[in-house]
Amino acid sequence: MKKIFIALMFPLAALAVPPKIVKSEAEWKKQLTPQEYAVLRQAATEPAYTGKYEKNHEKGTYFCAACGTELFKSETKFDSGCGWPAFFAVAAKDHVVLLKDESHGMSRVEVRCAACNSHLGHVFEDGPQPTGLRYCINSVSLKFKPAR
Ligand code: FE
Repeated sequence: MKKIFIALMFPLAALAVPPKIVKSEAEWKKQLTPQEYAVLRQAATEPAYTGKYEKNHEKGTYFCAACGTELFKSETKFDSGCGWPAFFAVAAKDHVVLLKDESHGMSRVEVRCAACNSHLGHVFEDGPQPTGLRYCINSVSLKFKPAR
């Protein structure tokens, strides 16, 4: 009975809208490393080909490095050659928010964590099928947990 309950809980938990997390900038600074703070809270970009997950091909799940919200699954990760981890889909639609980003002389769509509003990366329309999308995400914004 307990096992069934736990088995039932997991898909439901993954689909649930994550609760909003609001912290002061001082709290984020205390919790995050300087590089994590720069990317997650100030929308900096890690240098291309330097991130710890760019070449990660392990099976597992990627969570928000700031708040732990489930964001991406290894099944949707692909080698885009762009220098950052790339995914063609999010783990759950409600776990990210998309914002128009006109900074740096480009017109892009920014991807943020829906729970804590941290910057994750950008999404482009040049990804593989079935979605045709490429979520180009900073390794710094992610925490990977291998599948067991
Ligand atoms: Fe988050």
